Amino acid sequence: MTERYFAYKGNVLMVEDVALDAIAEQFGTPLYVYSRAAFTDHLSQYVTTAEKYRTANLQSLTCYSVKSNSNIAILNLLAEQGAGFDIVSGGELSRVIAAGGDPHKVIYSGVGKTPSEIRLSLEYDILCFNVESLSELKRINRIAGEMGKKARISFRVNPDVDAKTHPYISTGLKKNKFGIPFEEVLSTYAEADALENVEVIGIDCHIGSQLLDDAPLLEALDKVINLVNQLEEKGIKLSHIDIGGGIGITYADEQPVAVPDYLSRVFARIAEWQKDYCPDRQITVMFEPGRSISGNAGILLGRLQYLKTNSGKHFAVVDAGMNDLMRPSLYEAYHGVKPVIKRSSPAKAYEIVGPICESGDWLARDRELAVEEGDLLAFMSAGAYGMSMASNYNTRGRPAEVLVDGQEVHLIRRRETPEDIFALETLVP
Ligand SMILES: *Cc1c(COP(=O)(O)O)cnc(C)c1O
Repeated sequence: MTERYFAYKGNVLMVEDVALDAIAEQFGTPLYVYSRAAFTDHLSQYVTTAEKYRTANLQSLTCYSVKSNSNIAILNLLAEQGAGFDIVSGGELSRVIAAGGDPHKVIYSGVGKTPSEIRLSLEYDILCFNVESLSELKRINRIAGEMGKKARISFRVNPDVDAKTHPYISTGLKKNKFGIPFEEVLSTYAEADALENVEVIGIDCHIGSQLLDDAPLLEALDKVINLVNQLEEKGIKLSHIDIGGGIGITYADEQPVAVPDYLSRVFARIAEWQKDYCPDRQITVMFEPGRSISGNAGILLGRLQYLKTNSGKHFAVVDAGMNDLMRPSLYEAYHGVKPVIKRSSPAKAYEIVGPICESGDWLARDRELAVEEGDLLAFMSAGAYGMSMASNYNTRGRPAEVLVDGQEVHLIRRRETPEDIFALETLVP
């Protein structure tokens, strides 16, 4: 829930100790507003639970998924708290470096790593490539050889478990493009083991996003542990197990598993396995959380421009659109909508839409609201896959972003201007 960090005080919605209408007044709308305490509290849930299970031979690293919210101010504060980072592009690596993150705590996921991205990652000596195909393995081996380096790698395995989430955010089924098919894992590791310029250090999986129940994650973990044992018999000794991200959050009334409970179950299983199979070897357990850290740490503020009624249906047109927050049009995702200042007038059911010239440009459907033109609306739970998916469609500058820390408000990205948007374009002479 965002409730702890974004709560009403009287009739006014606050972020930490600051009223959201004052922030909108100062920075304009559409505006992403984040709570610093929310980010740090959510990361702490991972770090402190992992700490509880730590032994000399059982370590852990939480690698925040940069793509969920990649503002460098946020990466910086998570890095200061000890986070590693899970990246999916060279651009994200550049962000981590600019934010002061430690490249030795960076793991690199994704099916399409280009030669220049691989080279950049090797220059920074990142912790590990999460390799998704044999072709990628060969490319990494060749480039590392050219650079006189050895690349540390892990394979992302596809455990073929059903994450029971939206098909667009489910990644661990056989039919998805991600990972090495389960039946090919052993032979793929054997090929990698024979290569000169890679060092095989781990295994990883990531089965999907917005998982409310951890049963599919634990099922995937069991399958992965089983593979580690089979690899061990072939003489391939892995030192880390990365179980990916995917823990869901409350958008409406979902009740996701609590992060400490999930982690406790993961560590219990791994500790038990380690005791029997490799008591003397150091194992690092890794996590790649995105949404469970950033999702409920931010909201999108929009201002209501027009109220209109078409054939009996009430529309509320706001200045935020699908280019600012794409999740509703992309996944039919639900975001709570709250008036920044509550009115006591009677409520009506509205479809809340943006200004973009697309019928798919809606942010929320059938919401009972008491609103008037000029009111501010908060789209809740927008900290993950909000700003990081925003675009300039319709030549709309992307929103500004602010981070609130107690009573202090920091602008962490200024609003884009039209000149920013076409600055890279040139006229033909
Ligand atoms: C997107 C992604 C994550 C983060 O997923 P969340 O559901 O936001 O926790 C982790 N790992 C990989 C490989 C990803 O692609």
